Amino acid sequence: MTLFTIITVTTKEKEEEAMVLPICDVCLKSGILCQGCENKLKTGEVTQTELEIAKVLYRIGEGKLGFKRAIDLDGIVIIITEAGEVGKLIGKGGKIVKAISRAIGKKVRVVGEKSDLKSVAEDVLAPARISGINIVFGKDGEERFKIRVMREDARRVPGKLETLNNIIEMLTGEKTVVVIDDT
Ligand SMILES: [Zn+2]
Repeated sequence: MTLFTIITVTTKEKEEEAMVLPICDVCLKSGILCQGCENKLKTGEVTQTELEIAKVLYRIGEGKLGFKRAIDLDGIVIIITEAGEVGKLIGKGGKIVKAISRAIGKKVRVVGEKSDLKSVAEDVLAPARISGINIVFGKDGEERFKIRVMREDARRVPGKLETLNNIIEMLTGEKTVVVIDDT
């Protein structure tokens, strides 16, 4: 019973904390990994990509920028952060996302944690805009969400439609299909 109480309190404190990086300040400042952070990398709790992102955010974020985790999928890195922090992590005119992208040499998208399908699709496909989402049924009778990208934004889609669709499916657990709107 006592143990249970301790765990609850710890979790609550963690949620209330400001934006956190997965690597400690000491390591980010010195550029040398402490035993704790070294272990996080070894066990895969923190990936090399997440370490690189943390370094950039530590350098330019003045302690105000953090993220939850990052997923590398088909050459696009998706950074997951708190839902209300997406804009902050993208930065003015995409400044911060561009800095991360340069540092890791990959395209970067920022997505809010536990967001609904529409928000995730918007974040993943930005700067291309979505004209609508509706439910369609495949030949197999399976339900899918058809996400339509505005035709005029076809060139602004940040990657292959199939890759972006895979990312949206992974983040939402829904079956989706991304298309360029034909109207
Ligand atoms: Zn450390």
